[in-house]
Amino acid sequence: MDHFTRHVGESPEEVLHKVFGFTAFRGLQESAVQAVMNHEDVLVLMPTGGGKSLCYQVPALCRKGVGLIISPLIALMEDQVAGLRQLGVRAAALHSEMDHQDQQTVREDLICDQLDLLYISPERLLTPYSLNLLKRCSLSLIAIDEAHCVSAWGHDFRPEYRELANLKELFPGVPRIALTATADPRTRSDILSALDMPQARILMGSFHRNNLFLQAQPKLSETRQVLDALSRHMGQGAAIVYCGSRKKTESLARQLREKGYTAFSFHAGMSPADKKNVLLRFRSGEPMVVAATIAFGMGIDRPDVRTVIHLDMPTSPEGYYQQIGRAGRDGELSHTLLLYNGEGVARARYWLEEAQVPESEKRAMQGRLESMISLTETTGCRTQAVLACFGEALHEPCGHCDNCLHPPSTFDATEAAQKVLSTIYRTGERFGAVQLIAVLKGKMTEAVERHALQHLSVFGIGKDRTDVWWRMVIRQLIARGAIGMVGDHGGLGLKRETARPILRGDVAVSLREDATLRHLASMGNTT
Ligand code: ADP
Ligand code: ZN
Repeated sequence: MDHFTRHVGESPEEVLHKVFGFTAFRGLQESAVQAVMNHEDVLVLMPTGGGKSLCYQVPALCRKGVGLIISPLIALMEDQVAGLRQLGVRAAALHSEMDHQDQQTVREDLICDQLDLLYISPERLLTPYSLNLLKRCSLSLIAIDEAHCVSAWGHDFRPEYRELANLKELFPGVPRIALTATADPRTRSDILSALDMPQARILMGSFHRNNLFLQAQPKLSETRQVLDALSRHMGQGAAIVYCGSRKKTESLARQLREKGYTAFSFHAGMSPADKKNVLLRFRSGEPMVVAATIAFGMGIDRPDVRTVIHLDMPTSPEGYYQQIGRAGRDGELSHTLLLYNGEGVARARYWLEEAQVPESEKRAMQGRLESMISLTETTGCRTQAVLACFGEALHEPCGHCDNCLHPPSTFDATEAAQKVLSTIYRTGERFGAVQLIAVLKGKMTEAVERHALQHLSVFGIGKDRTDVWWRMVIRQLIARGAIGMVGDHGGLGLKRETARPILRGDVAVSLREDATLRHLASMGNTT
């Protein structure tokens, strides 16, 4: 390793300049580095792209010994190691997919004090063999990357992370630094207790990403909306379209290919070889779209993802923000689009209601779902609204989200709401939005005829408005909890507590006029 340089004894600033070529630390990096240099345990919370890696890479180079980085994803480790070695850093990885000889070389380098950074997977670390080996080395620090994997609370729970609690006793006196982009308080406290670092200094960076342009639209014609967003925003970069199901990722990728895009699907049900192929193409930098489930997540660090689109509403602001955070890691303007509709909201609530989880957990999940729903319907600055979910106050509106650019107007919809609620009631609380709108508009459909709905007093009371307009009203009545799903066939029913005062005229209903409605209508196919 002749062309590799040692930096022990240099200051963090020197290492930052000389090795990484950066002029200054960003945000909380400096505090994190200092804490580690002072032997403190630290928990670093920063959004994706916030610059977490330097928080452990720099002190690992300045301090004597090898810095151990525990990372859940092999692909991610390989990337980091390759990048570091290009910078002349003595870095290596140890994981189960390496051949025996390579593993042996790394072990020898380790013993001979030839490494500054060692990336290792939790299962490899926790073997007696590795532990014995590492005990013979001097460790500069232990970094636990993607630390939220330790929390059963989050969606990335990895049981092997639980064992990391022992690190404190196994390597006493070695400073530990846990890092994650998940900011909710519950995950935070889980990390501290599961890693046995109650005294850790908590460094929480701003989650504000000024280069992300947030937009949400009612879903009216999803393929058109996706194509429209891609043609406007993707440029020569990449796009990720998050879909609610594996099947959807495949059908959408196919549709996009037919339109001339380089497009792949990605989900957990694919073979490792297929997944690897997509990741390789994605990293290669060619313009492309990945239609994916949320399995396409950790370690997606392509800098020029120009747009992230959600075909379905995520179930929490944390998930949403983490996924859109994969856009614009190079700091350039990037666009995000969230598509949502009333059915999706009603279904998410229904599933959660039926879910077999402990009551306290269910209430917390419901809380996050409701925050997400409010986020979709907010009339204020969307960036402010999402940051508020993480307890962060952005003092001025961002100026570039959809609501800042086109402030939505509100209108009195009391009468319209009463018409919808009456129609639901009169038709027996069993039809979905499409049939309800047919009744409102007085359209003879097969279902109308079969159930003789044309004889009801509500038949045709909404003739004066378009289908899209009624869809908007129904969606917002769902969002505010006046309507909900009954059973799992998509039928909508009244939520008595909220619906009754509206029907009686005791409360006025003010709804937001969808700013995008006119634009979407001009795209056609919106009935
Ligand atoms: P995270 O792990 O938090 O998602 P990374 O550590 O991958 O983020 O950093 C994101 C990007 O920001 C990288 O391209 C990195 O080189 C860059 N970066 C990090 N810190 C600095 C800094 N102090 N100055 C300039 N660029 C930085
Ligand atoms: Zn805004």
